[in-house]
Amino acid sequence: MTDLLRTAYDPESFRQAGHELIDLLASYLENAYQGKGLKVIEWKDPAEQLQYWEQYSSKEKSSTQLFADLLQHSIHLHHKHYLGHQVSPTLPVAALSNLLSGLLNNGMAVYEMGPAASALEKVVAREFTKAIGWGDDADGFLTSGGTLANLTGLLAARKAKALSDIWNQGSEEKLAVMVSSEAHYCVDRAVRIMGWGESGIIKIPVNERFQMRSELLEEYYHRAKQQGIQVIAVVGSACSTSSGSYDDLESIAAFCQKQNLWLHVDGAHGGGAIFSPKYKHLLKGLEQADSVVIDVHKMLMAPAITTLLLFKNSLQAYQTFSQKAQYLWEQSGEEEWYNLAKRSFECTKHMMSAKVFTILHLYGTQVFDDFVTTLYDLGKSFASILQQHPNFQLATSPEANIVCFRYGPPGVAGAALDQLNSRIRRQLLEQGDFYIVQTILNDQVYLRTTLMNPFSTEKELVALLKEIEETAVQFLDQVQS
Ligand SMILES: *Cc1c(COP(=O)(O)O)cnc(C)c1O
Repeated sequence: MTDLLRTAYDPESFRQAGHELIDLLASYLENAYQGKGLKVIEWKDPAEQLQYWEQYSSKEKSSTQLFADLLQHSIHLHHKHYLGHQVSPTLPVAALSNLLSGLLNNGMAVYEMGPAASALEKVVAREFTKAIGWGDDADGFLTSGGTLANLTGLLAARKAKALSDIWNQGSEEKLAVMVSSEAHYCVDRAVRIMGWGESGIIKIPVNERFQMRSELLEEYYHRAKQQGIQVIAVVGSACSTSSGSYDDLESIAAFCQKQNLWLHVDGAHGGGAIFSPKYKHLLKGLEQADSVVIDVHKMLMAPAITTLLLFKNSLQAYQTFSQKAQYLWEQSGEEEWYNLAKRSFECTKHMMSAKVFTILHLYGTQVFDDFVTTLYDLGKSFASILQQHPNFQLATSPEANIVCFRYGPPGVAGAALDQLNSRIRRQLLEQGDFYIVQTILNDQVYLRTTLMNPFSTEKELVALLKEIEETAVQFLDQVQS
């Protein structure tokens, strides 16, 4: 062994660097929760950021210094002014299990490359299938993100519902899925990856609350059929990413039942509401789905990437990739729950189950309920604050913790109003005191907040509105002239 390798693997320097890192992170968390001495993001434009890191090699070779610099140049999800995208401020102890997983590096493709974590994947999946209300036939596994989970769920749907054996023989069949026009773009991408092209995704218009108009499914289905397109599945959004609206899963399920279609529910963001007695009703009908996606790194506090893909009938998950891999599996054709790569897209993956199980073991599903309910409640409080304010317009009354609104002072309308809101959002980003994003709803620019942090309260939201009003002043002349 070389001296360099010996030094790089030294357990004692690991111990010391590890203690220093944990001290750094614990102090960081204290400040972030309070929003003290820390902006939610220290804005640098991409070129400037690149330059900083390109020149970094001249700095002291200390992991603690490097980690502190990385931290400072990152966005802070634990900051109580973080109100942007849907990734959770992780539970600190779940981040520790991530560290463990990183060090152990159990590869997870086959049982022996992750014995504990493979078994835990089943334990974790069961906790979720039970909460959905499914029986013993249900099962699931963890995979790398909602995007990949949606593709994998749709591949299972294709295996189950297409007339020909596409996996082995390819096909000329024209297949399609139906989905709300507000669905996450990854569903569209999955369809194109499967080679179904543009006609493979049939977008159903939404109502004024941005929910799929499920009464139109029948009409769109028959129109596709007349064009020689075979619809095999409907994807319900629970909830949609932009506006946080839950599709009416019960009526979609009834339609799927009638036409013998696969029902896939994209619950990447809002599926976790099954653990909230107060908000579970939003997912009524979920138990009739064939497959369900839930991102544990969104509303359930796990570090990214941690996504569950769950199947009502677990056998269907094994048929998706019926493929021989002699070096991995002794018995290719068997349904072995413990050889996880038989069902997942990935070969090697993180020990994701360790993160979810750590949360469940220490705090139970109660912590999921607490998190979801607290933040969905806060969404409603924020909506009433906005409604009381004459210069703010709410896009729709929120069902989840995603709240979209626009700042519309008297005399500003149309394109000028879009421009004003875009400039406000950009200015907030560069100021770094609050982090929010923007979206397009009904062809108009809206400011979009996702309330991801239980340390954020009404007080922070009132302060955000004040900052928006103050920021807007400098742009009012520009957009009006
Ligand atoms: C976030 C999200 C996705 C994508 O999931 P990733 O984990 O980011 O890949 C898909 N669908 C919905 C509804 C989402 O909110």
